[in-house]
Parts: sequence; structure tokens; C-alpha cells
Amino acid sequence: MPQPHVRFERDPADVLRQLHELRAQDVPTHGGRVLAYVYDPGVPAVDELAAEASRIALHVNGLDPTAFPSVARMEADLVRRARDLLGGDDEVVGSVTSGGTESCLLAVKTARDAWRAAGGEGRAQLVLPVTAHPAFHKAAHYLDLEVVRVPVDGPTGAVTAAAVDSVLGPRVALVVVSAPSYPYGVLDPVAEVAGLAAAQGIACHVDACIGGWVLPYTDVEQPWDLSLPGVTSLSVDLHKYGYVPKGASLLLHRGRDRARLQSFALASWPGYAVVNPSMLGSKPAAPLAAAWAVAEALGDSGYRALAGRALAATARLVEVARSIPGLRVVGEPAATLFAVTADQTVPVAERVDPHHLADAARARGWVIQPQPALQTSEGLLPRTAHLTVTAVTLDVVDELAGALVAAADDVRGRVPASADPGLMAAAAQLDPATLDAATAQALLGVAGLESGGALPAELAPLMALIEQLPPGVTERLLTEYLARLIEP
Ligand SMILES: *Cc1c(COP(=O)(O)O)cnc(C)c1O
Repeated sequence: MPQPHVRFERDPADVLRQLHELRAQDVPTHGGRVLAYVYDPGVPAVDELAAEASRIALHVNGLDPTAFPSVARMEADLVRRARDLLGGDDEVVGSVTSGGTESCLLAVKTARDAWRAAGGEGRAQLVLPVTAHPAFHKAAHYLDLEVVRVPVDGPTGAVTAAAVDSVLGPRVALVVVSAPSYPYGVLDPVAEVAGLAAAQGIACHVDACIGGWVLPYTDVEQPWDLSLPGVTSLSVDLHKYGYVPKGASLLLHRGRDRARLQSFALASWPGYAVVNPSMLGSKPAAPLAAAWAVAEALGDSGYRALAGRALAATARLVEVARSIPGLRVVGEPAATLFAVTADQTVPVAERVDPHHLADAARARGWVIQPQPALQTSEGLLPRTAHLTVTAVTLDVVDELAGALVAAADDVRGRVPASADPGLMAAAAQLDPATLDAATAQALLGVAGLESGGALPAELAPLMALIEQLPPGVTERLLTEYLARLIEP
């Protein structure tokens, strides 16, 4: 037996034991009790396949598909599958990215560079409905575009084509629509917006990150995908309703020439020629392999079955939510996610505040996500609570329906949380740009958020703060809170 070169300082079994202990403090990724962040097919064999495929590709470097042709093959297979599913012809090409955020960033980068190449002058604009995912704001921030926000229509939760039309012009490099939006799960009028944009030669991106692997299996009537000629790019996450581990999304473009603008290449340094179609250099292939393996194994019929289960659970939950006195569902949910809000048409004493509802549901063992109200130029979008429903939800749907009814009974008529006026007055004086870390930490303490500590059991008061503080201050304080969590 050759002697090992290195002795472990700590027994690997002990390290893994600690990892299991750490993981036990997380919200559960499986079982359907968490209705955000996690996507559980409810089929252990799918997860086992993903784990095994990841293991096989664990040390592969996706940086160079000529050295690792497996990477090119898996990526090509996934792109073909996605374009077939999403109305693309063979002029549609694309790539696998690390997630929705990267797909959105690259869609914006591609559109900005296409706009510049076509003679665009000045600072490019990015047109975003207020419901568009923050990944696009991040893209604008990183890539120096000016965001033009378009309010959504209150009752439907979707942007109107007329509102988008009113902001189109020669500096607009890209218009984004969601299919569906994350906050409300409703579909924007993709066909109308894409048509308006195309008429002015403006690119249009469909953000189908969350809905793209489900909508093809619904009976939604309005077209929303690459079958619309005005849609120039589309993003869809595999690590959501593709039911694969985190780290896999797809970005598709119409046309090879447009798609090439996504890449960065550099041949003028004394090292290897760099050609990166996505953000990373050295790149994990494990998420790609997991996504490829699960998609190959499930195939269209497997995904149809999983989508059918998630859609059935959603239909049931939407019906239950609509039947709860004092609660209302926002708009017409198009896929497997929806939001609820207080019914403003009933007397105050009968209303169900969605943030209190989320806290009451959490106390009963169900995680639904509170979302803040937002003041827009067209009026106030109310506070809501969000539910992302997956295939496994159907296994627990009766229990969840009962918990929602009971949680609503727990809080009906309870006065919505509001922020401390003293704190608000103090915060209004703050300039987030000059707020230092120590002051931010002290403010978190005043707000009841022990910096570096756990979140309070009730999130409604925290949500009220988020709603009422100036956004810049909230962003600075939340940045401080998160940063302190990972300080050694
Ligand atoms: C999740 C999501 C994104 C961002 O995806 P990540 O994978 O979290 O980076 C973008 N758009 C929509 C509509 C989403 O739901």
C-alpha cells in the first residue's frame, strides 16, 4: 500500500456529520412545505439521477468544450430541447448558464451590444415593467444602462402594451416582458409588446425563467414564446421547473449573429485564447450534467406529468385562496405561482393582511413569501404573499389548503403592521451613500434586527419597515445584515 501524501487533519466522517447538522437548520428543500426557492418533483429517483450525474462531471471544467467535448454535447442537447419546447426554429441558438440571473445579464449585454452595433448613441435604455425580475436591474447596474420603469395595471398585475409603447424610442436597447412575472405569476402581453418593439427595430426579451418549463404544458391561449417573430431572446431556468439542482438555466437568441454578441473573446495575452460565452471562466459542469441527465430521463412526457401535478395543485390552492373571506388572488395566475392580497372591498375588520397571513402560515409550518407594497406612478401595488407551487405540493395540497384557511382565521381583522414613526423620521435623514457599517449595524439593532442573528419569528413588522423606509436605506441596511451573517 502506498503511503498517503496527506493526512486529514479532521476525520472526513466528522466533517460530514457537522455538515448534516448545519443543513438541519435550513428550511427543508423537499416535502412541499416551502413555497419559494425550492422545486421538488416529489420523485426521489429524479434527485438521485441528478446527484449521480453531478458526481460523474464533478471535476470537469466547462471552460473549454474542445478539451471536454461532453460539455458541448450536453449543452447542445439542452438547447435543442428548449428551442423545440419554446417555439424556436433552427435559427434559434443559445447556451446554458449558471442561473436565471446570468441568463438575464447576458440577454441585456447582447441587446446592448446589438443596439450599439446598429448605431445606437448615448446611454442605452432598458425598459422594465415594475414586476420584471431584479436581475435586469442588476444587469443595468453592471452594464451601465438606464432603466425605464413601466408601471403595471393594478387589477391584472401585468404591464399594458400601451404603457410600454409610451416609453419606446431610439435609445431603447431592450424591452423585457415576463412569462410569467415572479411577484404575481401573471403573463405580460408578450405578443403585443414584441410586435410594438419589432416595429421600431427594438429587441424584446421574454423572461420565462420561472414559467418557461411549465407554460408549454398549460392551456394558456395567448402566444408568449419564440414562435412570436418579435421575440429576440428568451430565458428559462432549468433549476426551477426543470427540477434540477441549482446552477442551470438557458438563454436562447433568435439568430446566430445576435447570439455571438453574448460572447467575450480575448486572443491578445500570452496565455490560452479566452472565449467565454457566459460570465464565468472555469466553470462547473456538474449542474449541466445533472440538468442534461434529468431532462434526458424525464423527457417531454415526464415534464408534462410533473407540470400537470403542479398545475393541479395550483388550481386547487387558487380556488381555496379565492374562497377565503378577506383575501384576494392577484390577477389571473398563468402557471404554477400566484400571490394573495387583502380584499379591499370588505370592511377592515374582515380583511386578511397577507404579511400576517404569511407569519401565521409559518407558525403552522408552511413557508410562504411576504412581498412588499410598492408605490408606482400609476398608484399603489398592494402588499402580497407569494406561493410557488411544485409537483410535490399535490402530495400535501389538502394539508396546505387547510393551513391557509386556518392561518387566515388566525389573523383576520388584525391591523397591518406599520413601521415605528420615530425610526422612520430618523431614517428619512439618512444618506445611504455615506452610511457606514457601524451606523448601519446600530440602526439594525434599533429596528430589532440583531445584526448577524436570526430573523424574528414574525416578519410582518420587518416587511413594514422595508415598505416604508426609503429604498436606498433599506438596501443599505439589508446589505449590512447579510454581510454580517458571513463575517467570520
Ligand atoms: C428566478 C427568476 C429569475 C432569476 O433567476 P435566478 O436563477 O434566481 O438567478 C429571473 N426571472 C424570473 C421571472 C425568476 O423567477
